[in-house]
Amino acid sequence: MKLTVLGCSGGIGGAGRRTTAFLVDDDILIDGGSGVGDLSYEDLLCIDHIFITHAHLDHVAFIPFLVDTVGDERQRPITLYGTRETLHILRSHLFNWLVWPDFSTIPDRNHPFLRYQEIAVGDAIDLGGRKITPMPAHHTVPAVGYAVDSGSAQLAFTGDTTYSAEVLQALDELPNLRHLIIEAAFPDALQGLALASRHLCPSLLAMMLRELNCRPEVYVTHLKPGKGKRIMAEVGAYELPMPVHRLRQGMVLEF
Ligand SMILES: [Zn+2]
Ligand SMILES: [Zn+2]
Repeated sequence: MKLTVLGCSGGIGGAGRRTTAFLVDDDILIDGGSGVGDLSYEDLLCIDHIFITHAHLDHVAFIPFLVDTVGDERQRPITLYGTRETLHILRSHLFNWLVWPDFSTIPDRNHPFLRYQEIAVGDAIDLGGRKITPMPAHHTVPAVGYAVDSGSAQLAFTGDTTYSAEVLQALDELPNLRHLIIEAAFPDALQGLALASRHLCPSLLAMMLRELNCRPEVYVTHLKPGKGKRIMAEVGAYELPMPVHRLRQGMVLEF
């Protein structure tokens, strides 16, 4: 399997700064931030499944445009996967006929452009042998991460989360974790803000990585625009037990 980084910025500001969206193979999206907008129309038509970590706009903003753009050209609905809490937020506050139409009833309930599927932490969704399993996360709103299993190795994306022993335990339970995408939204000087907004900064990230028993390649995501170099310099100053890279838009991770 492969994961292509469509967006991994903690904000906007030019073509290199799209918000969180990952394309898995060519038919699965994990999160639907502004990175989705750079896919061609033909690529958009291939997306059958969208897994959402949480309802914050930087992770969902382009899903309404995607569904509206391709819905009438598709033979079957796009499936939007999220926890019960996250789907409730999206249905109440986004696909609510006020901000955007409810595409689960368009053109009619029997043949909609979009269908919702509830998922729960620990319960794998199997898409032709490719398994996607929601993992715990600890953020200001209900949130999950995802483990993606190709059958031979796993890639994990922790979504937006602050330090969490539960997250560490879930990562260590993966049998062959090859790639770990984890955030560091703020520099260490803003640790108070990182904790208040349930994000990570380099010191908290280092604490998590040191407590991990597994040794994946680590990719740091969700860096605040203008603070990326500083955040990565701070991460690099901690002695960490595994290789740590900055995640970049356009990167392809295979597993
Ligand atoms: Zn968030
Ligand atoms: Zn975010």
